[in-house]
Amino acid sequence: MALIVQKYGGSSVGSVERIQAVAQRVSKTAKAGNSVVVVVSAMGKTTDGLVKLAHDISSKPCRREMDMLLSTGEQVSIALLSMALKELGQDAISLTGAQVGITTESEHTRARILGITTQRIERHLKEEKVVVIAGFQGVASREELEITTLGRGGSDTSAVAIAAALWASCCEIYTDVPGILTTDPRIVPQAQLMDKITCDEMLELASLGAKVLHPRAVEIARNYGVPLVVRSSWTEQAGTWVTAPERGGRSLINLEIARPVDGIECDDSQAKIALLRVPDSPGIAARLFGEIAHQEVDVDLIIQSIHEGNSNDIAFTVMTPILKKAEAVASAIAPVLRNDQSPETGEAEVMIQENIAKVSIVGAGMIGRPGVAAQMFAALSEAGVNIQMISTSEVKVSCVINAAECNKAVEVLQKAFEIDNVKDNITQNKAKVSALLPPVCGVALDMKQSRLAIRRVQDRPGTAAKVFGLLAKHNVSVDMIIQSQRCRVIDNIPTRDIAFTIPRADAEATQKMLQNAAKEYGWGEVVLDKAIAKVSIVGAGMVGQPGIAAKMFAALAECRINIQMITTSEIKISCVVDENQGKKALQVIHEAFGLSGDEIFVIPA
Ligand code: ASP
Ligand code: MG
Repeated sequence: MALIVQKYGGSSVGSVERIQAVAQRVSKTAKAGNSVVVVVSAMGKTTDGLVKLAHDISSKPCRREMDMLLSTGEQVSIALLSMALKELGQDAISLTGAQVGITTESEHTRARILGITTQRIERHLKEEKVVVIAGFQGVASREELEITTLGRGGSDTSAVAIAAALWASCCEIYTDVPGILTTDPRIVPQAQLMDKITCDEMLELASLGAKVLHPRAVEIARNYGVPLVVRSSWTEQAGTWVTAPERGGRSLINLEIARPVDGIECDDSQAKIALLRVPDSPGIAARLFGEIAHQEVDVDLIIQSIHEGNSNDIAFTVMTPILKKAEAVASAIAPVLRNDQSPETGEAEVMIQENIAKVSIVGAGMIGRPGVAAQMFAALSEAGVNIQMISTSEVKVSCVINAAECNKAVEVLQKAFEIDNVKDNITQNKAKVSALLPPVCGVALDMKQSRLAIRRVQDRPGTAAKVFGLLAKHNVSVDMIIQSQRCRVIDNIPTRDIAFTIPRADAEATQKMLQNAAKEYGWGEVVLDKAIAKVSIVGAGMVGQPGIAAKMFAALAECRINIQMITTSEIKISCVVDENQGKKALQVIHEAFGLSGDEIFVIPA
């Protein structure tokens, strides 16, 4: 007999008939001899309706009253589902978050779970009742029972947290799609269902999978080793397993860590190779990394940034032992990458730097929290550490610095983010486990970003901290961040360009804000490009496998799609391309990695 937590989303309980169908499934699971805890969302679009009501009354409703209002939606569905279960002869009891004892921070409308008491749930399970719990809600204080909600989509988070607290054997998320697909089927009809994906991959695919499974829920599953499966409420299909490392002894106190960062990683045996002034035209990255892959050289970080004029810099890091080989390949190919459009700039120049280190901060808590990257840059700047390269992904920010400064950097980051354990030389360790996994599990397209570039910012500690501190202060979430390799000396001060992507809705206002700052700090122009698209590949199996980036770049080159920016993490490679080519890029990359299939999946609107 197992203890199973099942979560049903709004569409799964959207009508009386659907609630009855859910009751059938729940009672079947119970009759098979399992203890069942069910977490439900509000019926259909109830929560949206309540939000609208609030805004009809007030343009800026108070957040406490919002929680009071929104938490009612789930209370309707728990009561109805319990009644439906009893109609089927299955004893059941509904409980609100307060009745269970789900305590949260007091941040109304976006509270994080601090703890869950399990006594009452366990008592009812012993009485052979199905326990039906309202998702999305908790209480900030046991004395005053202040109702809080977890933020939109929060009932996934409730379900996985309850599963972790009960040590359930698994958490099943029932929804209106059959599971996690390899990409968006509305753009790529050949998208297929994944049978499994790791939590880390799922987090990096946030822009693809967030609608199906909330990233905070995935983070809890990862931290507490909760086996998680996403399945359709309408069929018996197996769905997609989201796999986590085995459960360790992590304490359930402060369950949903209030910290945005939960790990620091460092790797101090890397070397950097930069190719300066390569032509800004389709096929260049493909040729370079094709040759590198051909020589079996495994690259770690790759970044390419934008520039004035029609040339780019591409930089990448490798593990120190293969530097000589990588350098030979880069030097051999540099003359071939001649810039025909502006012959006067001559051929690409190869720049090598040994003894560099990569330090990274990791954590799903940084999704949607501007300021985390800025805090990292500020900590490094206070310690006087200069950042040579920055590379970001959904749940990670990596900085390349001098190896000699690695210990100091780690120390200040530990302090800034209150982290005690640091994972050393993580890349090599990950490579060992990755050999068994497919290099790419999913491909995502993000069309909601714009790019800003600031020309000629001073290359010294504190600059990145200043730029991204300003953005954080204005509540602008930064996605990709790339610092150029090329250095221009102006009035004896070395300067670089820095480019980053932000939500399109914030583009103009942010440009204005930065233009004012540029005057004050002596930076160059602030250039905005709204018409961009970001395509990403994600896969835990790409670590330590040469040629994955090359394959992605080659797929783009084949249809003459120019790559404007590149950034990577160990398990993700993202490219910025022209907006008009985004969909095509997604299609060809999905095809190139053999992810296409014949089964048709329709995603409800
Ligand atoms: N009912 C809440 C919402 O619509 C929570 C959830 O469905 O996960 O956001
Ligand atoms: Mg949902």
